[in-house]
Amino acid sequence: MTSPRISFEFFPPQSLDASFRLWETVQVLAPLKPSFVSVTYGAGGTTRKLTHEAVTTIGKNYGLNVAAHLTCVDATRAETLEIAQSYADAGVTEIVALRGDAPKGQARFTPHPEGFADSVELIAALAETGRFTLRVGAYPEPHPEAANTAADVAWLKCKIDAGASSAITQFFFEAETFLRFRDACAAAGINAPILPGILPIENWEGTKRFAARCGTQVPAWLDEAFTTAKRDGREALLSTAICTELCDTLLREGVEDLHFYTLNRPQLTRDVCHALGVVPEVSLEKVA
Ligand code: FAD
Repeated sequence: MTSPRISFEFFPPQSLDASFRLWETVQVLAPLKPSFVSVTYGAGGTTRKLTHEAVTTIGKNYGLNVAAHLTCVDATRAETLEIAQSYADAGVTEIVALRGDAPKGQARFTPHPEGFADSVELIAALAETGRFTLRVGAYPEPHPEAANTAADVAWLKCKIDAGASSAITQFFFEAETFLRFRDACAAAGINAPILPGILPIENWEGTKRFAARCGTQVPAWLDEAFTTAKRDGREALLSTAICTELCDTLLREGVEDLHFYTLNRPQLTRDVCHALGVVPEVSLEKVA
C-alpha cells in the first residue's frame, strides 16, 4: 500500500495564545508535505481578515499550497467576490466554497438580500472568474437540513457541475459510512475526488457535542471505549489507535487522500500520519 496524500485543516487564531498554537501546528505538520492545507472562515464570516492573514502567511512562510474557506453568510455577492479577488491578488489559487451556517439564534440559513442564495450560486460565480481550484463540503451522513443522503448526493452533484473539482466530507466515525457515501456518489455520476474528513479525537465529550450539532452518529462501542480509556488515563492512545485504524481501512478500500481536521493541535494528527507511513522528508545533507 502506498502512502496516502494528506492535507490539513487549520482555523485562524483569535488571540496571541491561539497564534502560537497555530504556528506550532504548522511547524509540526508542514514537514509531512501535505498536498494542501486549508484555513476555515469563522461562522457568519467573523474571521474574514484573520483567515486572509493566516492563509497568506502560511503560504509565504511555509511554501504550502493553502486553500481559503469562504462562505456566503451575511455578505453581498460583491463583498464575497471582493474577498475572492483579494485571494487571487495574493496568489491563492484554491478556495473551499461553502454556503455556511445560519448565524447564532437563526434556525435556518437565510441569504443576504444581495448575497448568494446557496453554495451552487457561489461556486458558479467563483468558477466564472477562472482563478481558482474549487473544493466543496460533502456529507456522508445527512446534513441537518437535508431530507436524506440521496438529497445530499443530488446537491453535491449540482455543486460539482457548477465548477467544483473535489469535495471534502464532514467527519464520521466508521469507514463504512464514508464508503457507502462514496458508492452513492459514484452511482449518481459524481467522478470528482471525495476526500474523507478525518477528525483525530482530542476530547471525547467535546467531540460528542460537535457530532450532535453536525448530525454525525456516535457508535455505542466508541462511547464505551472512551469511557474505559478515560478511567485508565489512556484517551490519547485510544484516539491514535482508532483514527489510524479508520484511515487504514479507508486506504485498503482504495482511498488515496486523507484530510485531517487538526483543530490546531498537531500531535494526534502527526502520530496517525507516522503510523500510516507518512513521515517527514529528511534531506541527505541533514543525515550526513
Ligand atoms: P450545502 O452543501 O450547499 O448545503 C448543505 C445541504 O443542505 C446540502 O447537502 C443539501 O442537502 C441541502 N441544501 C442546501 N441548499 C440547497 C438547495 N438550494 N437545494 C437543495 N438542497 C439544498 N462553516 C463555516 O462557517 N466556515 C468554514 O470554514 C467551514 N468549513 C467547512 C469545511 C468542510 C469540509 C465542511 C464539510 C463544512 C464546513 N463548514 C464551515 C460548515 C458548513 O458551512 C455547514 O455545514 C453549512 O451548513 C453547509 O455548507 P455547505 O456549503 O456544505 O452547504
